[in-house]
Amino acid sequence: MKSDPVVYFENQFVPLSEAKVSIMTHALHYGTGVFDGIRAYWNTASAELYLVRPVDHYARWKANCGILRINVPHSAEELAKITADLCRRNGFTGNIYVRPLAYKSAARLGVHPDDTDAFSLIAIPFGDYLDSRNGLHAGIVSWRRVEDNAIPSRAKICGAYVNSALASDEARRNGFDEAIFLNESGHVSEGATCNIFMIRNNKLITPPGSDNILEGITRASVIELARRELRLEVVERSIERSELYICDEIFFTGTAVELAPVVRIDHRDVANGKIGPITAELRRLYFDATHCRMPAYAHWLTPVYNPGVTMEEMKAEVRDECWAV
Ligand code: PMP
Repeated sequence: MKSDPVVYFENQFVPLSEAKVSIMTHALHYGTGVFDGIRAYWNTASAELYLVRPVDHYARWKANCGILRINVPHSAEELAKITADLCRRNGFTGNIYVRPLAYKSAARLGVHPDDTDAFSLIAIPFGDYLDSRNGLHAGIVSWRRVEDNAIPSRAKICGAYVNSALASDEARRNGFDEAIFLNESGHVSEGATCNIFMIRNNKLITPPGSDNILEGITRASVIELARRELRLEVVERSIERSELYICDEIFFTGTAVELAPVVRIDHRDVANGKIGPITAELRRLYFDATHCRMPAYAHWLTPVYNPGVTMEEMKAEVRDECWAV
């Protein structure tokens, strides 16, 4: 990584070292920010960097900012263009992660927010968030997922991530790779930074939005791949803790964790303790679709270095150059 990468801050591109906020900033004291996370994958065959579903991420981010009454003065499409420009300015030739952050920026004390808002975009080289090649050991934590009527977990609100930080810390200190939250009604909700799926009797099952989850974009992508490519039945319903102990397969999804198999839960093997066949297949499909190796999903991707390319040209290129599994 360049020692001082370019970031987008206060409506301009500046070196990271110059992007500074006051210690009086409202969001720093009260958690009044909303962030998101977007990946871009480098495809060697086409020497191109592809942002994964940037417009969908920005549309969710802007909608969630509305919950905190933070105004981001650009459309989702404009934000995707600024992000591609940011990546070009940094000259990335590997996988990266983009962190949009909008926040209450007034430099004053007092919890009542005013209408002073700001946002920034950071892009950094990014590898694996969790090493899940051999599967993870997940543990249910004692912390409960925040309730919608306390801090909505369907928005990536900065302050709500104290809940995730507590869970993640507890899980890691207890020897697990990742945490699983239950909600206040005792149902399985999600991981600290990822959604959860289980497979029982060939059905792919995941908690619904009303179980205090973040409505993940990776979750939506994996549901689409499961239905279209594997013809799997996908059910959104509440999951009980003990179902996780007897199901056939479990995995997490998220921009950072990608699709991470869980092979052990609370010191019990999931089925035979090996990565399950449906999980392995979905993971392969997810990586192929997001790395521009499947023409049918080229519309999920925004090329950074050749922004003028049409979807038809992209699909042709996928077929000619990168369709190698
Ligand atoms: N749940 C939580 C709590 C998260 O922080 C994330 C990461 N954004 C996810 C789920 C997965 O969401 P996405 O697939 O949109 O990254």
